[in-house]
Amino acid sequence: MQKHRMLIGGQWVESGNGEFFESLNPFTGKPWALVPRGTIDDVNQAVGAARSALKAPSWAELSATDRGALLRRFGDLLAKRADELAEIESRDNGKLINEMSAQLHYMPQWFHYFGGLADKIEGRVLPIDRPGMFNFTFEEPLGVVAAITPWNSPLMLGAWKLAPALAAGNTFVWKPSEHSSVSALEFGKLFAEAGFPPGVVNIVTGFGNEIGDTLVGHPDVAKVAFTGGDLTGQHVYATAAKHIKPVTMELGGKSANIVFADANFDNAVKGVVSGIFAATGQTCVAGSRALIQRSILDEFVEKFVAFASTARMGDPLDTATQVGPITTQPQYAKVLDYIEIAKAEGARCVLGGKAATRPECGDGWFIEPTVFTDVTPSMRIAQEEVFGPVLAVIPFEDEDEAIEIANGTQYGLAAGVWTSDINRCLNMAKRLESGTVWINTYRVSSFISPFGGYKRSGFGRESGLSAIREYLQEKSVWIDTSGATANPFVTR
Ligand code: NDP
Repeated sequence: MQKHRMLIGGQWVESGNGEFFESLNPFTGKPWALVPRGTIDDVNQAVGAARSALKAPSWAELSATDRGALLRRFGDLLAKRADELAEIESRDNGKLINEMSAQLHYMPQWFHYFGGLADKIEGRVLPIDRPGMFNFTFEEPLGVVAAITPWNSPLMLGAWKLAPALAAGNTFVWKPSEHSSVSALEFGKLFAEAGFPPGVVNIVTGFGNEIGDTLVGHPDVAKVAFTGGDLTGQHVYATAAKHIKPVTMELGGKSANIVFADANFDNAVKGVVSGIFAATGQTCVAGSRALIQRSILDEFVEKFVAFASTARMGDPLDTATQVGPITTQPQYAKVLDYIEIAKAEGARCVLGGKAATRPECGDGWFIEPTVFTDVTPSMRIAQEEVFGPVLAVIPFEDEDEAIEIANGTQYGLAAGVWTSDINRCLNMAKRLESGTVWINTYRVSSFISPFGGYKRSGFGRESGLSAIREYLQEKSVWIDTSGATANPFVTR
């Protein structure tokens, strides 16, 4: 098994106490790599290195144009290693090679886009109302950014934070998920190759419950960018609050994929399949609730089940596979628990509903694509994030009822709408309480378009122009140009 090292201050190091942990391949259930088990001391060193790099002339005095050039060069290097990194991700988190490969081949765009933006971060001269005063603003980096990411799209969710944070002139400490750290460590090698000064990007691996609080609460960490589950997010947010530091929170969801009777039927069937079974439901934007207009409910369920039941399961590294394993054993157990809860609550299982034991699934943690009908909006299967290949089908009569059900959860990450009525498209887009609305499509994202949650799905935006603002602070500068002597006892 290959032993990996962490990146601290430009050096590749073992953890302070020399301990490693095993990273498991979800298809075989067996360990395939050894990853350093970072310690509190390692975190302190990584933050120290990021803090020093922030002040070092090699970064602090680099022009924004040159910073942008580094990012674009990094993007070019990443493009060359996309296939290799995609394969590592697929082996480490069990997601389909097709999915990881598409993410990796698209990812350089984040570095090109934000690299281009680096020297377009401008202050403003304000038409100030005070006579004899000149007022302008600077946009400045926040300082050291700590990023914490989950296992489902390891590099993509890191890149969404790294590219804008570095473009804005911050330095970075990244703790990837313990279940999928290997790709981040390989990706980390490209920073030196691209010419980034040592310490600008640091990667510490290990267990969130051992080192997370130290990283989040570190006095030299100026901002925390978190993606993960809402309960972990709550904990991270509370720790950051104790130290009054800004956070972005990209959390979970219970997204509704809403199909009206006037939709293109075949496209809608495929769109709902893609929303829940692509990525084995292990995506924050999983369309885990299908809201189907009652007049087409039976026909839709019949066609949907027929189509979904043909999904090929198996080795995620095989490009013909359509549904892969669940990434971790505890997550596998959790999904099976939710299936039992749904049955106990009275939902009717019309597809799957059990662990998959097909020969092509080997020893992996596979669950059959599962569909429940007779689901009511208050059932747990309709309210809680399962993060697996489990769909809850809920009927509705009209637009008002669809909105009431769709908005009736604590989450608000994404929603899909399938209709051929343009007025309905716009009305639904306005009325849905979610950070992303897809109409006649699902799961599209771009470096140009902001992504983030409403309600318990979080706050702050990644990608697009909005993202850079998450990593900047604005300074207002006043100059008295009047030359007059001010009365010190009167506020001007
Ligand atoms: P977790 O919340 O379990 O973990 C996320 C990250 O937080 C991991 O790196 C984890 O480390 C770390 N962590 C755990 N405990 C702490 C702590 N006390 N302090 C600081 N960090 C800690 O999420 P999962 O990895 O299970 O990922 C699945 C979740 O992520 C789902 O809820 C999903 O919806 C959400 N997600 C949201 C997205 C979005 O953009 N909105 C995108 C993708 C996923 P460790 O791995 O060591 O436990």
